[in-house]
Amino acid sequence: MCKAHVARTQDRMSTEQKLARYAVPGSRLRGVAPPAAWVVLLAAIPFLAGFYLLLPPTGLSRTIAYPAFGIIGMLAILLGVHMRRPARSGSWRLIAVALALLAFGDIVYSFLSGDGQEVAYPSPADIAYLGGYVVLIAGIASLIRGRVAGGDRTALIDAAILAAGAGSIVWFAVIQPGLAGTVEPMVGVVSMAYPVMDLILLGLGLRVLLTAARPRYLQFLLAGVAIYFFADLVYALLLLNQAYGDANPVDAGWIVGILLIGVAALHPSVADPVTTVESSDARLSGSRLATLAAAALIAPTILVIHEIQAGDDLVVGLVLEWTLLFGLVLVRLGITVRELGATLQQRRHLQVDLAHQAHHDPLTQLANRSLFEVRLAQAMATAPETTALIFLDLDDFKTINDTLGHATGDELLRVLAGRVQRGLRATDLAARLGGDEFAILVEACQGPSMALAVAERALAVLRAPLSLVDRQLEVHASAGVAMGHARSTPTDLMRDADVAMYQAKAHGKNRVEAYVAAMHGEVIRSYELGTELAHAIETGAFVLHFQPAVNLTSGAIVGAEALVRWNHPQRGLLGPHEFIPQAESSGLIHSLGRWILREACFAAVGWPTRLDGQRPAVSVNLAASQLLQPGIVEEVAEILAETGLPPRKLILEVTESALVDLDVARAALLRLRGLGVLLALDDFGTGYSALSYLARLPFDIVKIDQSFVAAIGQGRRVDALLAGILGLCDALELVTVAEGIEEGPQLDRLVALGCRIGQGYLFARPVPAAEFTALLTTSRETQRQSPGVGAFTALVARPVVAAAV
Ligand code: C2E
Ligand code: MG
Ligand code: MG
Repeated sequence: MCKAHVARTQDRMSTEQKLARYAVPGSRLRGVAPPAAWVVLLAAIPFLAGFYLLLPPTGLSRTIAYPAFGIIGMLAILLGVHMRRPARSGSWRLIAVALALLAFGDIVYSFLSGDGQEVAYPSPADIAYLGGYVVLIAGIASLIRGRVAGGDRTALIDAAILAAGAGSIVWFAVIQPGLAGTVEPMVGVVSMAYPVMDLILLGLGLRVLLTAARPRYLQFLLAGVAIYFFADLVYALLLLNQAYGDANPVDAGWIVGILLIGVAALHPSVADPVTTVESSDARLSGSRLATLAAAALIAPTILVIHEIQAGDDLVVGLVLEWTLLFGLVLVRLGITVRELGATLQQRRHLQVDLAHQAHHDPLTQLANRSLFEVRLAQAMATAPETTALIFLDLDDFKTINDTLGHATGDELLRVLAGRVQRGLRATDLAARLGGDEFAILVEACQGPSMALAVAERALAVLRAPLSLVDRQLEVHASAGVAMGHARSTPTDLMRDADVAMYQAKAHGKNRVEAYVAAMHGEVIRSYELGTELAHAIETGAFVLHFQPAVNLTSGAIVGAEALVRWNHPQRGLLGPHEFIPQAESSGLIHSLGRWILREACFAAVGWPTRLDGQRPAVSVNLAASQLLQPGIVEEVAEILAETGLPPRKLILEVTESALVDLDVARAALLRLRGLGVLLALDDFGTGYSALSYLARLPFDIVKIDQSFVAAIGQGRRVDALLAGILGLCDALELVTVAEGIEEGPQLDRLVALGCRIGQGYLFARPVPAAEFTALLTTSRETQRQSPGVGAFTALVARPVVAAAV
């Protein structure tokens, strides 16, 4: 996936971008040099060659023009070395010297033949030519050396076989006839030297051709050398047949060959580091074998033709038989090669699979952490300022996993990962970093708003309801976004996105936060709070306060809600909002919740009974994850048994946030109810407030959120809403408790609307356990002395309550 992705990205790169990759840092020519000198020279080659051929066949212009092309080739190489600074610049300089020597040979030849004189053969010009060849061979050999791991001996041998095959033709067609009748040994040696060197050049060219990786510059070089070789060959044949004269088109072959070598040196790819390639499996292919066989059969074929002409049947027969045997052996070899090829193919597939596994998460098939980190490092190294990182963490996934089981949890992760992936651009990379943590790398990001938009989109696709194992689920996630800047490292970016994600969780989950520097301190404080909290649970630094719940008509205290406080050594008494979210996200809520439940039940069994002989009930808040934890029912039963509190005297309060998965919540609530405890839906009206909850879930009590009470008297609509809720609860036989009653008129209105029970500062603030017990005793006393008086009015006036405020 990743390779294809990289390929796609590269496809989209403009030529300019591709060229920019080759620009040499700090080069003076970087901004000044023509963008592609090699293109200019390549395009000019046909014109230059054509121009040469159009010059008058004899005369000064040709004499000057011909060596000029050698000089152009040489200059192109020197310019290429200067501009591109190739790794093997020494080799290129040797090739430049070779072209210079060849051009020098031309000049010497022109000089010698200046007055139309016959030039002796060999002449001093041949010294320059042959020197040029030797240096050219040395230059090319040193340029292509060491490019294949382990020396690539097979490619070398293959190249030698092909060159030797070509050598047979050259020998029979050129060298042997040329030598026939030559008496002067010097002439013979020089005449042989040219084709031999040509063959060595051809061998080098074939060596490049047979090697797996051929960068563009080597392809140009190869083309140049091949054309040069064929020009030499044609020239030799023409010479042999006395058909070569002035202005022969073959001259253009040399010109094109030399100029292509210049193009090779100018090509941007010469700047690439010399990469060593693994020897290629391609060399085992059947076509390669057939080519080699064809090369090996050239000499016997010539022999057969020769012997047929000579009429020697025996030799012809032997050679043909030998050819047949050779062919059979080759077929046998071919079969082995094919089998080997299949095994290799399998191995390659296996390697690809292993590489995929090493870089991808097996569950979701998204990139894994290691691949993600590599891609992030690459992005940050090339364009840190346009790199954005999004960290994404599912909200309450642990609860889902614990309640629905790990198999469903895994399935959920798979579905959600697919959604995230589909919502991204092809250039973005999504990864699963572990558990329910995902990350998105946004490259070429135009700014924080774009990164935020990507994150918002990801959260939106996650939020869409999904059905899994016959359940309707709605999963939320929190995301943190961080933008790179010039000096930030990948680690910085990961940390920043993590901090922002953490903040999104702390600020209520199901949201995106972009990183700002100030977040850092906040996160550190929150981290410290987490450690302190764990310590506080161990040392029992928590206390319970109790807030009375009052019968709004009689004033009798019917119960109390247990509200936890943290007795912090430095910061004093902390309210639940300051530590409950942290306790929930860290999982500490379970041990804290257990303590609260036990403490509240113990307190309630010690409370005096009311005049009617009834004991006030105690309400305990359950956090969402507490309700959904598998052992909660057993835990409550155990505590009831231990403390001896009658189940009817325990009210468990849950908020709507605990009802994400209705089926699971319903099952837990039903089992709790089976114990005989009462269930209250807390803060009704603040969350989704689906009225259907009231009918579908086994609640006994609905606690109307204080925001409704606070809004009493602020308009007919609020009143109507409150009346509606109370009427509905009444119809469903649910007891309503109004929260946050602070003023007399609120109380009057609630009583008028039929609300029976309430809590609020008007009656009492939450007070420590001992004070609440005292309050109960006083309330009982007041009621006994003046049963006719609205008891809560007397209650409010009690100094003990005022002192507790
Ligand atoms: P809650 O369950 O709705 O508790 C009522 C909150 O309203 C309490 O705040 C109480 O002090 C406050 N309150 C009562 N009367 C009035 C009033 O007249 N005016 C105003 N403005 N506020 C009033 P507290 O103690 O800060 O608790 C806040 C929330 O923290 C609770 O809301 C509950 O959701 C959570 N909480 C408290 N104790 C526990 C606990 O033991 N376990 C868990 N899981 N959550 C708890
Ligand atoms: Mg409550
Ligand atoms: Mg409440």
